[in-house]
Amino acid sequence: MKEAMLYSKEGGKVRCILCPHNCLISEGKRGICMVRENNFGVLNSLVYGVLSAAHIDPIEKKPLFHYKPGSNSYSIATVGCNLRCEFCQNWDLSQGPKTGKVSGKKISPKEVVEQALENDCESISFTYSEPTIFLEFAKDVGELARSEGLGNVFVSNGFMSKEAFDETESFLDAANIDIKSFSEGFYEKYCGGRLKPVLDTCKRMVERGVWLEVTTLIIPGLNDSEKELSQIASFICDELGDGVPWHVSRFHPDYKLTDIPPTPMESILRAVELGRDAGLKFVYSGNTPYGEYENTNCPKCGLTLVERVGYSIYKKDISSGTCPECSTRIEGFF
Ligand code: SF4
Repeated sequence: MKEAMLYSKEGGKVRCILCPHNCLISEGKRGICMVRENNFGVLNSLVYGVLSAAHIDPIEKKPLFHYKPGSNSYSIATVGCNLRCEFCQNWDLSQGPKTGKVSGKKISPKEVVEQALENDCESISFTYSEPTIFLEFAKDVGELARSEGLGNVFVSNGFMSKEAFDETESFLDAANIDIKSFSEGFYEKYCGGRLKPVLDTCKRMVERGVWLEVTTLIIPGLNDSEKELSQIASFICDELGDGVPWHVSRFHPDYKLTDIPPTPMESILRAVELGRDAGLKFVYSGNTPYGEYENTNCPKCGLTLVERVGYSIYKKDISSGTCPECSTRIEGFF
């Protein structure tokens, strides 16, 4: 347990401003994420240094395709999340604290960084659940990691306050953010959140020079209309930049949405087309067996620069960040 950042006292209650929920928390109670608790007027993080997952992952698994491709990322998570997505694929971690129990293995920031270095990782990813809700720990780990030459990655729902985002300036290098839908109603009904703060976070990432990639899980009947997918693609292209990669990912029934079938491949391929039609240079399919939509091709001459199958890389011809054939600059960190 550690005193939280970004809160104020209001009488006997505390107001957390880490995320746009802005929970007002009574004595002895927790916020919506269930990992921040008011103890006698002090807001504490219950998950500081308490890891529920630590794995060595290919960076492609985040997914990040334009940030150190082919490298490993030391990937960690605590329990807890500030959203409650009914289709969550890591719900045992993200929604675990709803039982009241906060579980995990105690570890220090120094130990996390040592383990990343010992395992030849080039970055640390704060992932699986939602890094915003364990920002105190992420910041301590991230600053130490940066001092050791490691990169830092957030895999996030983007539902964080500007104040929380500002706290990441000292360590954050790259992020993959979900834009789960382009409908406020969807965010409210299926996630218990809001869309606009997510879009604002994406814009802030780009403005500050954090390398950004976006993921959308395509759920049949809920967010797969051509209109909505085009709206997401246009937002990325017009507001974030045509070089920001968009990952359109296949849904599998999970958590509370077990009565919806997996996304048909035609929907994924249609989403790829819509992304390209909107002007995006890099649109990738995720959770699919179609390798050709996982490759990075030069947007000018079409040369395949990175060939991927799943999380494996079979060809990498992009070390300089430019196409070896036509010298076009490829956005990202290679
Ligand atoms: S981080 Fe948790 S406690 Fe803080 S505002 Fe968000 S949901 Fe509430």
